[in-house]
Amino acid sequence: MVQRMAGAAALAMAASIPVAAQVSPAAPPGMPMNPLPIGDTSAIAKEAQSWLADLIKINTTNPPGNEQLAAMYIAGILEKEGIKSEILDLTPGRSALLARLKSTAMADPSKALLLVAHMDVVGVEKPKWTVDPFAAVQKDGYLYGRGAIDDKGMLAANLAAFIALKRANPRLNRDVIFLATADEEQFGDASVKILIAKHWDKFAAGFALNEGGEVLLKNGKVQYVAVQASEKVPVNVTVVARGTSGHASMPTKDNAVVHLAAAVAKIGNYSAPVHFTTIVRRYFEQLAAIEDDEMGKWMRSLDAPDRGEHAQRVISDASPLWNSMLRDSIAPTMLTAGVRANVIPGEARANLNIRLLPGDTIDVLLAELKKLVNDPQIRFEIQPDAGLAAPPSSLENDFYATITKVAGREFSGAPVLPFQSTGATDSAQLRLHNVQSYGFLPFPLTEEDFRRMHGREEKKQIEKIEKRQSFWAVSQ
Ligand SMILES: [Zn+2]
Repeated sequence: MVQRMAGAAALAMAASIPVAAQVSPAAPPGMPMNPLPIGDTSAIAKEAQSWLADLIKINTTNPPGNEQLAAMYIAGILEKEGIKSEILDLTPGRSALLARLKSTAMADPSKALLLVAHMDVVGVEKPKWTVDPFAAVQKDGYLYGRGAIDDKGMLAANLAAFIALKRANPRLNRDVIFLATADEEQFGDASVKILIAKHWDKFAAGFALNEGGEVLLKNGKVQYVAVQASEKVPVNVTVVARGTSGHASMPTKDNAVVHLAAAVAKIGNYSAPVHFTTIVRRYFEQLAAIEDDEMGKWMRSLDAPDRGEHAQRVISDASPLWNSMLRDSIAPTMLTAGVRANVIPGEARANLNIRLLPGDTIDVLLAELKKLVNDPQIRFEIQPDAGLAAPPSSLENDFYATITKVAGREFSGAPVLPFQSTGATDSAQLRLHNVQSYGFLPFPLTEEDFRRMHGREEKKQIEKIEKRQSFWAVSQ
């Protein structure tokens, strides 16, 4: 089979190897040519599959994380390749790992490329799984396991790309740094934020490839490649209702539960105004060209003065993702009230998980919500775990142009769109340190696959590597 590079490896190489070195002899007619000096990659694709299975078996559910075990495993693999890595301890049992392929002795850190993936995974509801989520079971062409996609799939792909690059030993035009982070899912004491604060000098870079993008598969065909260049900002806000506590046999009008429920109902039906960011504008402009005529028409009318508002409604109603890309979103997620069935509690609380557009502020949104709720018994408390808004990564540099070119080529000419993810990733922290970070998850996934990943559902699937080797960074 003709060699074809894909995913993270192709990108890492296209971005890191001088152009002249990438040119290979013309391929036979009708055959795609391998433009990168990497040779047969089917072996490393198989290795990547076994690394992924091993990584799934190392339970890094966060909390507590225990990412150190995964870091030690990766260090062992790198050592066999003659690559020195460094394990950076953050809190007991929690570490990040980094390793570097140097271009020159005095490389410019502003050109360096980070291959980033996180080692921690979200928890599982074990009874809802048909297989052990930490056994890396292969079944029906899928590899089952927590983290198979988010983000150990990317981790294994990055590792394969990094090792393939080392084995090929080309002349690099920038340092390539493999970075495995911890605590991405909880953003606590072992997160990339703390890692940057403590160790930035060890992995300072100008560019990064991370999770957060998507290669959307529909009816067996890649519909588009979305490259994440920006992300929404998570903020948790507690709605607190106060009332008089008392015996439930004598109800009062100021019952905290009733006031909280009314406030949550109003907030749940509220839709924040549409604000366009550069990335979202570009996303819809480019998506309009591949959607059906009707949807394409509405996408092109999103900020038209006459029918913009109607178009925004149509687009928002068509997809929860699109709705959230256009505005600040609010999802009530938790309710707490009451201690006994026959006691009216004096306080009731609800958590709002808010995702702000980068550039919007929580104060403006809360002022709106206060007006909307209009109840002196209700107050809002902003929780301290809020993310920080970061500037978007540029769509105008050579690196983004390379991503567009390589991704288009690897996925049979599918359009490549810039994307503002509704979920948060480590990229925001990197962007705050002037890193042009792009989310590029190199595995074609259906909407259902994405729901498994984002919906914290009971199982995750990936396609068998034999069939989909090309997704594994280094391909068939
Ligand atoms: Zn993730």
